[in-house]
Amino acid sequence: MKIKVVKNILSENESYAKKNRAIFAKNNILCLNMISSPGSGKTAILVKTINRLKGKVRVGIIEGDIQTDLDARRIRTTRAPVVQINTEGGCHLSAAQVHSALKLLPLDKLDVIIIENVGNLVCPSVFELGESAKIAVLSVAEGDDKPAKYPEIFARAKVLLINKIDLFAAGASIDFNLKKVEKEVRRLNKKIEIFPLSARTCQGFKNWRKWLIDSARNHPAQ
Ligand code: MG
Ligand code: ZN
Repeated sequence: MKIKVVKNILSENESYAKKNRAIFAKNNILCLNMISSPGSGKTAILVKTINRLKGKVRVGIIEGDIQTDLDARRIRTTRAPVVQINTEGGCHLSAAQVHSALKLLPLDKLDVIIIENVGNLVCPSVFELGESAKIAVLSVAEGDDKPAKYPEIFARAKVLLINKIDLFAAGASIDFNLKKVEKEVRRLNKKIEIFPLSARTCQGFKNWRKWLIDSARNHPAQ
């Protein structure tokens, strides 16, 4: 019985994901679903990313949080269009919630939509939102055991951003072996792109920015 319930939830979600995919295809929009645990720096990365894409790629943001519009306010400082979804306790975004949010974005004026999912390394990775790719974020402050503990998201993501690398130079005592993480993640996912960066210092943003610009131009019609 339990399995049937889960299947029903996922198939209802899939029908909205399909509608969202059609909207992205019609408007030639690259949609990215950004997933991480709380505090990895997703919103900080987004603010820096949007500012660095100005004049090149038009970005819209969907912010998913359990409560508050704090992150949407931070995004608004960039002047990018942003819609906040509050899940009121829900630990992931659903495709239906994203579908409602899309009605509030100027789709004909956007090249890329980035969805900042609810901070959670587990279930957001199985609820498809209609995105072209998942972007996983892991900060070095979280420790290097996360790919082993939560393999699903690292196996499904197209890109992994390893944030807060400025902490290495700051001499912080952190248990994070970059080489070990890269090796483990590549074992789960041969094709993943890994960009170590710092949203604080903007170190490493060049490659991530290039990936975004290239992907926005070349993504296949879905
Ligand atoms: Mg955030
Ligand atoms: Zn959940």
